[in-house]
Amino acid sequence: MARIALRGRLVDFVGDPTHSASAVRVVDDGLLLIDGSRIIGRGEFGPLSRALNPSEEVTDFSGCLLMPGFIDAHTHFPQLDVIASPATGLLSWLTQHTYPAEMRFADPAVCHETAGFFLDELACNGTTSACVLGTVHPQSVEALFAEAHAREMRLVAGKCLMDRNCPSELRDRGDQGMHDTMDLAARWHGKGRLAYAITPRFAASCSELQLKLAGELARARPDLYVQSHLAENEDEVRWVRELFPQARSYLDVYDSVGLLRERSIYAHCIWLDSSDRIRFARSGALAAVCPTSNLFLGSGAFDFRQAMQTGMPVSLGTDVGGGQSFSMLATMRAAHDVARIKASALRATQLFYWATRGAAQALGWDDHVGTLESGAEADVVVLDPAATPLLARRAARADSIESLLFALMILGDDRVVRETFIAGRPSKARRPPASTTARSDDARTLELSRRFMGRLRSVPGGGVPKP
Ligand SMILES: [Zn+2]
Repeated sequence: MARIALRGRLVDFVGDPTHSASAVRVVDDGLLLIDGSRIIGRGEFGPLSRALNPSEEVTDFSGCLLMPGFIDAHTHFPQLDVIASPATGLLSWLTQHTYPAEMRFADPAVCHETAGFFLDELACNGTTSACVLGTVHPQSVEALFAEAHAREMRLVAGKCLMDRNCPSELRDRGDQGMHDTMDLAARWHGKGRLAYAITPRFAASCSELQLKLAGELARARPDLYVQSHLAENEDEVRWVRELFPQARSYLDVYDSVGLLRERSIYAHCIWLDSSDRIRFARSGALAAVCPTSNLFLGSGAFDFRQAMQTGMPVSLGTDVGGGQSFSMLATMRAAHDVARIKASALRATQLFYWATRGAAQALGWDDHVGTLESGAEADVVVLDPAATPLLARRAARADSIESLLFALMILGDDRVVRETFIAGRPSKARRPPASTTARSDDARTLELSRRFMGRLRSVPGGGVPKP
């Protein structure tokens, strides 16, 4: 791949904005140099552009922000087609919509088609990395990894472990689930930018034996990730208490078998008490907060203030399809609103940090992604603050980077994402926009109407058919 040079306003983070006001780094008129899949230079446009070789063209994104691509810390690709399906709560959502939809993933063709659409939708929303759950079927994760590998995406994924309290079509038999897990990890973990996650769906869907085996694998293979759900909804918490009466709490179910550790990602984490929060923070695990899903299903409001005071690492997830949107901007907006319900306030810089460098650091990706530093992998999103008239009007009044990012997350959606570079490659336009299909439909309609008019002209007596 050739070298590319991008001009725009460079915005990234050198630390956590909670601890330092100078954690956000901005170059108003900046240049980013990319060679193949890596960033090889960054800085002020003036001095850096003079060092360019005369044949190198600069892609001008002046007026736009160049930021590290977003990281979605929790989502489900097989739930793509049940997004925007109403339910009265988490458990009815699973039985009414999710489990029936996931049964279709026994078919590898469904897995590939859905995985491709899902990954392209992530890119359209500026998301360049994600932690993704498949279904119980190993072929679902096989297809997702293959599609992600073809797009050179950095992705964590795993097949769901579930051997009870779910439809028989979606149940692991005996120790087959663990065999499938080890087989997938052997084939995909560390291949390109991919990583495997041991994925017990949630405590209630796994027998004690399956959780114990998953924990043993997690201890033996600290290089693998763990991903699951934790304390999402009060009914679910009560159910887990009945299923595991010996456990002190829902968190204890995972911790007691070795599933709470660094490289563990737990979605939701709403209904934790203070001792759980302290235990979580000490473990080095990552909370993936999914506010659009929590609002949509009425699961509860994550307590950002308590989590931050305890030192729990926090990131954000869309949790499609319980979540309402693929957009990390929409997810940040909902996180802001959820924090307000709990009478705390989150700054935009904090939320953008969690969606970029914060998640990268917590996932152990350090300086590979989540930054525009020279040497990092070239996952970059181009955000256009003039994408809509209202946003342009509001953005023109922004007198600080905090104010501009705040406007972007409150008013923005996928229209704001001008381009997404994944490993240095423009990836937003990979899929033809829906309007292309609409245009071809329009052309077909025009052709039919021409033919119809032609027939009318051949009708004797003036062309207008008599009633
Ligand atoms: Zn989920």
